[in-house]
Amino acid sequence: MLENQLQTYFGFDGFKKGQKQVIEKILAGESAGAIFPTGAGKSLCYQLPAMLLPDMTLVVSPLLSLMKDQLDFLISHNIPAARLDSTLGPEETQAIFDKAKNGLLKILMISVERFKNERFRFHLQNMRISLLVVDEAHCISEWGHNFRPEYLNLPYYRQEFKIPQALLLTATATKQVADDMRLKFDIPEKNVIATGFYRENLYLQVTPCPASEKNTRLLQRIQKKPGAPTIVYVTLQKTAENVARFLCENHINAAAYHAGMQHPEREAIQNRFMDGSLSCVVATIAFGMGIDKRDIRRVIHYDLPKSIENYSQEIGRSGRDGELALCEVLADRDGIHILENFIYGDTPDKRAIRQVLQTIAENDGFIWEIKLFRLSSEVNIRPLPLKTLLVYLAMEGVIRPKFSYFEDYTFKYLQGPSWILDQFEGERKQFVRAVFDHCHTKKIWTSANISDILANYQTDRRRIITALEYFEEKGWIELQAGQTVEVYDILNQAVDMERMTETLHTLFLKKQTQEIDRIRRMVPLFESTSCISRGLAAYFGEILDFERCGHCAFCKTGPVRLPEPAALRSLSTFDFTELTAEFVQAAGEYLTSGNLAKFLCGIHTPVFMKLKARKMSTFGRLEAYPFMEVIDWISRHRKNTPEKTSID
Ligand code: ADP
Ligand code: MG
Repeated sequence: MLENQLQTYFGFDGFKKGQKQVIEKILAGESAGAIFPTGAGKSLCYQLPAMLLPDMTLVVSPLLSLMKDQLDFLISHNIPAARLDSTLGPEETQAIFDKAKNGLLKILMISVERFKNERFRFHLQNMRISLLVVDEAHCISEWGHNFRPEYLNLPYYRQEFKIPQALLLTATATKQVADDMRLKFDIPEKNVIATGFYRENLYLQVTPCPASEKNTRLLQRIQKKPGAPTIVYVTLQKTAENVARFLCENHINAAAYHAGMQHPEREAIQNRFMDGSLSCVVATIAFGMGIDKRDIRRVIHYDLPKSIENYSQEIGRSGRDGELALCEVLADRDGIHILENFIYGDTPDKRAIRQVLQTIAENDGFIWEIKLFRLSSEVNIRPLPLKTLLVYLAMEGVIRPKFSYFEDYTFKYLQGPSWILDQFEGERKQFVRAVFDHCHTKKIWTSANISDILANYQTDRRRIITALEYFEEKGWIELQAGQTVEVYDILNQAVDMERMTETLHTLFLKKQTQEIDRIRRMVPLFESTSCISRGLAAYFGEILDFERCGHCAFCKTGPVRLPEPAALRSLSTFDFTELTAEFVQAAGEYLTSGNLAKFLCGIHTPVFMKLKARKMSTFGRLEAYPFMEVIDWISRHRKNTPEKTSID
């Protein structure tokens, strides 16, 4: 019986809601999906089947820390599991490959990028895999709140490596997202098990609060129980720091946490929060994913969350022990423009899209190799939307991803090159000499120029890399992989440039509308004239069988009104020429209405690095204004000065 196996392998007395249904589907040889709230035990849906299926289970997870927790759990239950990541040395990596190929591993955890790695792909051909698990599977849907373009390739990888079954796990998916992700993996609707979003121990408080009063309100709230584990969510890194400092000055044991901080520092904060020596973390959304702390008593949104999906996930981290927890939004409308502006910043203009198409059209031959960051600054599209564009191009049949590799390998000699050379004889010696001859040493690091070696010696990439890895294994050099190069097949070099630009730009606009809409649906939820718990569940397609939960702002005190944003002085009162002079002078070919609006709204875009835009005194001067209004204002002015009219 399944219950016995659950007991044997993991020592649990029974299944949690939904687990058994999902596991039964998998054991019947089908694919399935699990939509359970955070902390509800999604991982077990693959962990138990992994022990019962004939071959290995491959788990794709977006976050290293998620993998680490799951791996620790598995190892502690003597389950043969491993994770591949870039921190492992070559010997450790090889040992994992060997085990996997010999059937000695039950679970292997990887990141999605790993599928593009040459060496991994090579070994994967020889592994037998029963099940592909996608954790945080909403990342695969463009309509999800955390779209990761690389995830769109997962269904193809599944085909390529002939993995019979798939299991998708997520905590938050609207009906649209759930359908989208299951269809991509051919999972029938009845195989997607959702357990519901309603949590009766969470008090959903919405406190109308103008920006100027937030600090005081927050402090008052925390002072009621200064030691209670609390997460305060903010939008911007600098807010995280300012609020944490304010709390510390008022004797609250708090620390900031955001993606701009160094990894060790972040880890230390997370550990202190976990063990209770730090009571309050003021964080951007970088914090919390994968944290399994059961006694979080308060989740306070100092700024509006990014979306209802984010809200649901973030509050879901509180009260996992089943005890009461407070989820409070200090709500005003001021932050909405900032959230929206992030989105506008991610929509490339037509000029940039056309430039990418141009690059493809002019490429010599049908193999297209790119370095993401270089292309990003060349065409002025941020890395994430550029990845999205590449996926769109693949969907439109223009390109097809092949694989990626590390372009240059750099290393440090731990033994002199002539000494290393002396370890070899005959052809091998010639080969090693050819490699070293085309290495270039700066002060400490030496870089191997692979294409130069290939041009001068009859060999292939694989042999060169194997040699460098061998030297490292021997302790003769210390090796570092360089920048990733993504390799695509060009399927159609003769596209109608204008039409394709239009098509792609329309796709981005559609995405932009969706995301703006996602933000705009949030305020009505908080100002709801009916139960907020019901509204929240309904957003995810679940109808609760009661009218009032009794523990949300509406049920407790009636409908809430958010304060109106502080009145802004009309744009027409600004001096256009004065505000734009600096940028116009520096921008050159990058002078488009879109870039100018981004500049004035303080939205970063790659070319601003080159232009040193952030250093200009007018950068971000219209930060508080909605992007669309600024664009309109610019267009009106530029119409009157035709020589500056932009094509976009
Ligand atoms: P999720 O991925 O849904 O957020 P996890 O898979 O991380 O949740 O599980 C949360 C916790 O619940 C883990 O500590 C896990 O060991 C525990 N758990 C899972 N299934 C069971 C079960 N059937 N009985 C008891 N504890 C369980
Ligand atoms: Mg999980």
